[in-house]
Amino acid sequence: MRKLVASTLVAAMTLSVVGCSQSTGSQPASGGDGSSTAPAAQAPAASEGNPKIGVAIYKFDDTFMTGVRNAISKAAEGKAEVDIVDSQNAQPTQNDKVDLFINKKVSALAINPVDRTAAGVIIDKAKQANIPIVFFNREPMPEDMQKWDKVYYVGAKAEESGTISGQLLVDFWNSHPEADKNKDGVMQYVMLKGEPGHQDAELRTKFSVKAIEDAGIKVEKVAEDTAMWDRVKGQEKMAAFLAAAGDKIEAVLANNDDMALGAIEALKAAGYFTNGKYIPVVGVDATAPALKELEAGTLLGTVLNDANSQGRATLNIATALAKGETPSKEMIGFDITDGKYVWVPYKKITKENINDAK
Ligand code: BGC
Ligand code: CA
Repeated sequence: MRKLVASTLVAAMTLSVVGCSQSTGSQPASGGDGSSTAPAAQAPAASEGNPKIGVAIYKFDDTFMTGVRNAISKAAEGKAEVDIVDSQNAQPTQNDKVDLFINKKVSALAINPVDRTAAGVIIDKAKQANIPIVFFNREPMPEDMQKWDKVYYVGAKAEESGTISGQLLVDFWNSHPEADKNKDGVMQYVMLKGEPGHQDAELRTKFSVKAIEDAGIKVEKVAEDTAMWDRVKGQEKMAAFLAAAGDKIEAVLANNDDMALGAIEALKAAGYFTNGKYIPVVGVDATAPALKELEAGTLLGTVLNDANSQGRATLNIATALAKGETPSKEMIGFDITDGKYVWVPYKKITKENINDAK
């Protein structure tokens, strides 16, 4: 039964991979299924000499990853033929897509794992086929990264983004005595967490609170729940927090902007951001819709998670590896740590420096 399901899936995936191809490497993803772009066989002759790179995104329906995806497509122009597929938030689907890439003999893989603990299996397969691999955004376990020298990771130091988002609240708290609504000298906060197990969710949660405590401010967690990086879930969770704790809440920390935007919706529905009723909300990513809220004064601040640089570095490393070259700082524009890691820096974004994120 399992086998049958698996082979049916493979057949279905074959169709969808062809349908989702962005083989010319010149079309930025539109956020949909990309099915309007030409399949590999019709790629223009000019790109024929370029290496083929198989790219799998954990799911297309993710605001930040759409930015990374667009950056990869753009960086590939004239350099590589990228085939970008949607793993639809299912690791078995992604594994099938990787198998297809290997069967098609792509020259390199760029993988944004659904489940980062599944990276080891993908590395084993890639190594056996001698196809170099670059992971991005979801960091494989260190022991998996050591399995082969043609394995790289492009990401950002999650601790750093946590620390910066905590500091945004520290700055606000220290300059706004009225932020301590119940005047107990303690910051009562709620936490909207990303997907449990994701390094960014775990470390942003931990280091944001640590930054506030390190600044000498006492904290009390009123509520914490995962909203899975999702705006609608963020809104629902925040509405539940408000129903349960209401006026007790003095600050909202969200592991990403989409959840922060959801929280802002729920707060607006509860009468916040009008008639002087305010609560500071911070996020991470600096997506375009978040910058709008920052301008409007509903989002206190965010942290630039540089999708463009991450996408470009991923593509550049994959292209170098595909051509049998060893990636270097000169090719990538970023240092390569321990021979396999590229860490793109984060940046604090407030209304004052909003243009740095645009
Ligand atoms: C981003 C989130 C995104 C997640 C996907 C994080 O780095 O901040 O917005 O949903 O990556 O893996
Ligand atoms: Ca208080």
